[in-house]
Amino acid sequence: MSNANKKKAAASGDHDYELVVIGSGPGGYTAAFRAADLGLRVALIERFPTLGGVCLNVGCIPSKALLHTGKVIEEAAAMEQHGVSFGEPFIDLDKLRGFKDQVVGKLTGGLAGMAKKRKIEVIQGVAEFKGPNLLSVAGSDSNKKISFAKAVIAVGSQSLELANMPWGDPRLMDSTDALELEEIPDRLLVIGGGIIGLEMACIFEALGSKVTVVELTPQLMPGVDPDLVKPLQRRIGKRYAAVHLDTRVTRVDVDDHALVAHFEGKHSGKENFDRVLVAVGRTPNGAKINAKSAGVNVTSRGYIPTDKQMRTNVPHIVAIGDVVGQPMLAHKATHEGKVAAEVCAGGKSAFDARVIPSVAYTDPEVAWVGVTESEAKKNKLDYGVGKFPWAASGRALGIDRSEGFTKLLFDKSTRRIIGAGITGVNAGDLIAECALAIEMGCEAEDIGLTIHPHPTLSESIAMAAEVFEGTITDLYVPKKKG
Ligand code: NAD
Repeated sequence: MSNANKKKAAASGDHDYELVVIGSGPGGYTAAFRAADLGLRVALIERFPTLGGVCLNVGCIPSKALLHTGKVIEEAAAMEQHGVSFGEPFIDLDKLRGFKDQVVGKLTGGLAGMAKKRKIEVIQGVAEFKGPNLLSVAGSDSNKKISFAKAVIAVGSQSLELANMPWGDPRLMDSTDALELEEIPDRLLVIGGGIIGLEMACIFEALGSKVTVVELTPQLMPGVDPDLVKPLQRRIGKRYAAVHLDTRVTRVDVDDHALVAHFEGKHSGKENFDRVLVAVGRTPNGAKINAKSAGVNVTSRGYIPTDKQMRTNVPHIVAIGDVVGQPMLAHKATHEGKVAAEVCAGGKSAFDARVIPSVAYTDPEVAWVGVTESEAKKNKLDYGVGKFPWAASGRALGIDRSEGFTKLLFDKSTRRIIGAGITGVNAGDLIAECALAIEMGCEAEDIGLTIHPHPTLSESIAMAAEVFEGTITDLYVPKKKG
């Protein structure tokens, strides 16, 4: 603690800090910044040397920098069909890694600067509770005790490890290792057809790897509406070495020249790979902070339950982000971070968002928000669908990416939007309008009558609403009899 802060603490005669935040990912740094802006004396504890957590350092941000590279390579190659050839790309891996690291550095450096301006004490070390108002922080060269009035637990999650894998062999990677971009393997096996697996597959395929994806369940990205996943599956089915569904990797052995993966299920046998990426989910870090010494409940799976104000069972300790439950998404954590900070500052905020959008930044992107069609069917909701195929979108045709579609789900009685799914380039940006429409309680007519700029992909949202309304003119939909 700085001398100025020590004096302040001494003057108030209580704890070292009014608020400590453990973990500096999108949830943690947002909570710390908001709390400082609300006037609290804040410490932000982070085990790694830079702020930003998984998202900024080894997750969302570096992966998106590399996905951009992949996109440009793919687009340049696709131009051949239009009569413009660029030839084979030359990839300078060191330079590419340098660009990715520079993007990460700008953002994490920006966070450090903003923390300083806000007079937040950033403490590097591993925090552990020692009591309801006490933490120990083990740094690289010292161990200190910190007392606090309130705490935010924002310790995130980590990659799940599969058994029977040669962990420690550098050719076996989790997403963090893969983003290090040590080499572009000739043959890459991706275990797990979820968001991380498919985004990483997308990067390495564009950079030149022959990619095989293995997914345990019958569908890539289980839980997402099957029609939304289909255009992605069709595209990667043509480009990747193989996509094996309903298949499990039982073990990976080490050979002199390869990693040998053993398959079981719909696809069986064994095959050699140069590298293997394991992306089978993430597990919360709740069990790692000795929460019980503060009296905070942690589930057997490592989650920390909270109420709508993000309070744990110990009212002065709140928790946010991956550690409080699914979906493990940065933007959910950020939102919760603001609620948590406001609650700690004495406000009445609560997490009352109706929906949290999800995006797979694959090629094409897949994005969804609110009720999925599978959920609507399962729960026997009285819903209607407006689906606009991008094959009828001038903009999608102009960029030669018409495989996608925009689907909106409406409550038939209120005609309000309850869910949306978009597959296609930039779906992740487009879905934000649908999230806003759901939050605002928009009816189909509101969306259809909102003038969208032409020619854009965003028009597809208004047109999907028009399909539901029966007012669409950019498609011919035969009138139903009777
Ligand atoms: P996930 O749970 O989304 O997907 C893991 C996949 O692996 C599942 O489809 C599962 O069926 C499969 N699987 C499990 N065991 C397997 C096995 N033995 N063999 C083959 N397949 C197996 O997990 P993830 O992709 O690792 O992502 C983790 C979390 O991070 C998710 O909550 C995700 O939402 C989040 N995330 C989000 C983004 C984004 O918003 N763009 C990006 C990355 C990660």
